[in-house]
Amino acid sequence: MNFLSLIEAKREGQVLTAEQIQAIITAFTAGKIPEYQMSALLMAIYFQKLNTAETTALTLAMRDSGEVLRFPKDQRPLVDKHSTGGIGDKVSLPLAPLLACLGFRVPMISGRGLGITGGTLDKLDAIPGYQTLLPVARIVKQVQEIGCVICGQTDTMVPADKKIYALRDASGTVPSIQLITASILSKKLAESLDALILDVKFGSAAFMTTKPDARKLAQAMVTLGNECGTNTRAILTDMNTPLGKAAGNWLEVKESVECLNGQGPADLRALVIDSAAHLLVQTRKAKILKAARLQAEQCLDSGVPRAKWDAMLVAQGADLKAFNQKLAQEVTAPVVQAVKARQAGFVSRCDARTVGEVIRDIGGGRMTKESAINFDVGVDQLAKPGEKVAAGGVLCRVHAASEEAAQRAVKQLEAAFTVTRTRPKVAPLFVGQIDG
Ligand code: URA
Repeated sequence: MNFLSLIEAKREGQVLTAEQIQAIITAFTAGKIPEYQMSALLMAIYFQKLNTAETTALTLAMRDSGEVLRFPKDQRPLVDKHSTGGIGDKVSLPLAPLLACLGFRVPMISGRGLGITGGTLDKLDAIPGYQTLLPVARIVKQVQEIGCVICGQTDTMVPADKKIYALRDASGTVPSIQLITASILSKKLAESLDALILDVKFGSAAFMTTKPDARKLAQAMVTLGNECGTNTRAILTDMNTPLGKAAGNWLEVKESVECLNGQGPADLRALVIDSAAHLLVQTRKAKILKAARLQAEQCLDSGVPRAKWDAMLVAQGADLKAFNQKLAQEVTAPVVQAVKARQAGFVSRCDARTVGEVIRDIGGGRMTKESAINFDVGVDQLAKPGEKVAAGGVLCRVHAASEEAAQRAVKQLEAAFTVTRTRPKVAPLFVGQIDG
């Protein structure tokens, strides 16, 4: 392969063949293409883009660069959800056991947070003893036996994405719709799914800040997922406001358990129910969304998904006694301080980006991939747009490691809220759906 001529071809806007793309990914994964040349190709793709056939070829080549999960034949469909990420987005935690109880198999391979958006694996690391690194054979066994697993990508799965993502990060080529699509879907397709629901977020704390950009990404991923043989659908949801009333790793686990107990914030419950309902319709286990939502709600309220959650925890090494003791503690961080409203009125803004930045700054997120995380810090009791507050009423509480960190966070968080005299029009959580 003359790699230089392929870089030049893409630089000039020519279309690469599936064979050429396959050869590039195989060679790059094997260390046979220098990183400076691969970076040049990524930049050419960033500017000249890939058409659907090229993006499909790239996605499949990346998926096949490592081990693909293979499951025994079974009447339970294999499903998963992917979220483009946001603040307080803990949907995966209650959703996986709920889906297992609805008759699905859920091989949920998740990631870690970087920057302000949280990662599912970091939340799960807050659970005493929980193992997120499982070998492929154990992932398959647990899915077959319990119905769900939430764990990290093994070193043998989709190695091409790991290498390419690191280069994109260092070469300014992350925000390419085709590269994002291939990166996300190659990992999901390596789970051998029958159906996938994508939660594509827009807003101040989202990967895509505007609704049109989020819609474009959602459309590209839905087209490609279906092209690759997985029934794929996307919902567009708002990420200008955090999801739920708590953000920060342990606080989000606590809120997830409330959701599994049939309690907790309405927006979190709605997103969990809606994600499950779409998958029920996509796999023809329900005819229409309305009936599917009812089925998911009844299942969640039965308490069976809560028991399934415990079974998943035990299977992944968690110490259930220590977990329940931690759940029973009112707070686990050394210092808790409230952010208070200066005037009475209605919350009209609770900015997700500011909340995310504060949590990262007090140690709940990562500045770099190597940063250590404090699982107990975060924010809870968030007052959300539309809620009434009294003068001096609580807008949120900060859980911090020290008095100084808490005081700094309180100051920063004051700027996250706007309180108005009149009741604001509250932006909807769900703004659209994209079907294959
Ligand atoms: N998440 C991914 O896994 N890949 C991207 O390219 C962007 C977000």
